[in-house]
Amino acid sequence: MKWMQFPREIFIGENLLKSVPDILQKLLNRNRCLILSGEKTFKIAGEYLEKKLKEKFDVIKFIVKKSDYDEILNIKKNIADNNVFIVAVGGGKVIDVAKVLAKELRVEFISVPTCASHDGISSSFASIFKNGMPVSIRAKSPYAIIADLNVLKNAPYKLTASGCGDLLAKFSAIADWKLARRIKNENFSEYASNLAIMAAKTVVKYRKKIKSLETIGIKKLIKALVASGISISIANSSRPASGAEHKVAHALDIIKPDNDILHGEKVSVATIFFLYLHNKDWRMIKEIMEELKCPTNIYDLGIEKNDFVNAVLKARRIKPERYTILEHKNLDRHEIEKICKETGIF
Ligand SMILES: [Zn+2]
Repeated sequence: MKWMQFPREIFIGENLLKSVPDILQKLLNRNRCLILSGEKTFKIAGEYLEKKLKEKFDVIKFIVKKSDYDEILNIKKNIADNNVFIVAVGGGKVIDVAKVLAKELRVEFISVPTCASHDGISSSFASIFKNGMPVSIRAKSPYAIIADLNVLKNAPYKLTASGCGDLLAKFSAIADWKLARRIKNENFSEYASNLAIMAAKTVVKYRKKIKSLETIGIKKLIKALVASGISISIANSSRPASGAEHKVAHALDIIKPDNDILHGEKVSVATIFFLYLHNKDWRMIKEIMEELKCPTNIYDLGIEKNDFVNAVLKARRIKPERYTILEHKNLDRHEIEKICKETGIF
């Protein structure tokens, strides 16, 4: 049986934050709301939204500090029950916690992103830490996404660049998927792969308007991130959005657990490496990344040469069932270093 779960209502527009309570009142027949937010994002949008929601709902608030499974259990035990709906106002961490919690409580969750930093805002998969290891788990698609373009435009630019990096990564992720179809006869979805590639191409096409934070640019970026999440729903797997470049990003999370490098920043550098291996036009994508101020080397990431090389070596042990160019080539340390020098990663 094929099963696909999608977000049901998507709102994208300017100054939407103030309309969130009205939108939710029309959509949901509940009066208790659990608002999840981050420390910084609460000040940016959460506090205002909490005040507005209190005019119409009973509101409980929780500040998410880390996207850890223990944190989710803690909220579940002490704060939430299955009479609430969840409003996640924040970045990736907050939204990831919300989608796992919503699945466990069997309640609706509404995604109110405060930045356009990765495609997790719309997907049903969550990246969280479980027993100290980053894992991608099947969770719940948001019931609704409410994206306020003014809030997204005012986010620190590096978060926006990170979202662009996460989307440009689809070029290497889809090349990996096609390789797995050819070598391992893996199931492949034309719809999901075309949608993911279209999302990546949107960044290429609108890069100037994204970089200059024009409303149309940010709107296209958020739509592309939502589309990438939908490609995951169609495939019922993160396959269209995540290949070897994501494995390296996760390996870096293990090697440098307390780094504050953004997801899309790590993915961005690794994408150049794997586009090279796939014999794709890595130079063109690198130039686009530079234009968008996405990191393209270890110096931008603030890591050592060995960190990156070790991450590529370690990445093979992450999601080993997902066949990518990494498993196909089985590179040694020397070969990895050679590619890094050739592509300017270091
Ligand atoms: Zn990603």
